[in-house]
Amino acid sequence: MTLVAMLRMIPYHIWKASHTLMGPLFLLSAFHTFFVASPLAVGAAPWALMAGVSIVGVIAWCQTLLRKLVPARLVEVERVIPFDGGVDVTFRSKKPMPKFQPGQFAMLSHKSLRAEAHPFTIAGGDEMTRRFVIRAAGDWTNNFVSTVKIGDQFRIGRAVGRFLPQIDSQRKEQFWVAGGVGITPFLSALERMQPDVGARVTLIFGIRSRDAAGAIQDVERHAKRLPQLNLIVLADDRNEALTLPRLSQIIRDMSEDTQVYLCGPQGLKNMIGRAWSMANMSGRIYSEHFDFRGAYGMEHLNYILRPILDAVRNIKPMFTGSVVASS
Ligand SMILES: Cc1cc2nc3c(=O)[nH]c(=O)nc-3n(C[C@H](O)[C@H](O)[C@H](O)COP(=O)(O)OP(=O)(O)OC[C@H]3O[C@@H](n4cnc5c(N)ncnc54)[C@H](O)[C@@H]3O)c2cc1C
Repeated sequence: MTLVAMLRMIPYHIWKASHTLMGPLFLLSAFHTFFVASPLAVGAAPWALMAGVSIVGVIAWCQTLLRKLVPARLVEVERVIPFDGGVDVTFRSKKPMPKFQPGQFAMLSHKSLRAEAHPFTIAGGDEMTRRFVIRAAGDWTNNFVSTVKIGDQFRIGRAVGRFLPQIDSQRKEQFWVAGGVGITPFLSALERMQPDVGARVTLIFGIRSRDAAGAIQDVERHAKRLPQLNLIVLADDRNEALTLPRLSQIIRDMSEDTQVYLCGPQGLKNMIGRAWSMANMSGRIYSEHFDFRGAYGMEHLNYILRPILDAVRNIKPMFTGSVVASS
């Protein structure tokens, strides 16, 4: 089960099913604590601790099973704009939908009952519509991106989440950093934002190329509309990838209590964290996790194998050295 959790090549639904199996295993151990002769004296502190953990665990597992499985609202695809590696899609509901705050996400699933639901940040919309920008990242999203068409029906859950970039005119200075499809929370924030003379908002949008950047025209349109927004688009295919010195230069003239909101790959988050502490900034860093499983994929092979190769390389000269010495 641990292996299933660690490897990204094993699809999410298998990971989820194997994780659900942890429940029955835990029930067995809880049963053991209460009903099977054990080396722990009943009533003694270690037994009481085991009993407490067992009770809390069983309650938590029951709560997981009882959780609402299917997102409630039936919606229809109204607009589909494909881009390289993803799709920008808008759904329309027949009845008004509950309000959402920019930065929140919702669960999306096919129409059928018990269909698998996936979380996506709401990229925009009003009372009757919801927009999402979805990148093909695995089996469900690959299928969605390649098959979704106008008129298809889906289900959407209510908006949840606490990643809420500040958009009102009383905000502190904001530093927003988006990697690829990580632009979605900022897209809905920009859509709601009105031109004002409040604190500056700097948005770095890191993209692979313009073709692979969903909704980039909308982001640029908002940059023209909002005088408080300083948009910096950095494209990998134009050798503009964000580096630590470049980032430090951008941060240099920000106020110390600037708040950071970032949504992108882990490497980007690490770099921002380093630049922030190097510049002695006191503002908080908020980040959104698109990949909560944190499993290893092919792109991590370099990080996993490099230390092993380095270790082997270090052993080899030592070994050669001892042969030379003894001869
Ligand atoms: C809060 C949040 C907001 C997100 N917003 C966006 C967005 O705006 N646009 C976008 O393209 N992607 C977004 N994602 C990522 C998106 O949910 C995953 O890419 C998608 O669920 C992958 O599913 P898959 O079956 O295609 O891929 P898989 O290969 O099965 O999964 C790839 C990884 O995605 C994550 N994941 C898969 N299924 C789920 C699920 N049901 N619930 C939670 N995580 C899952 C897991 O960490 C998994 O390792 C968001 C994720 C989260 C948690």
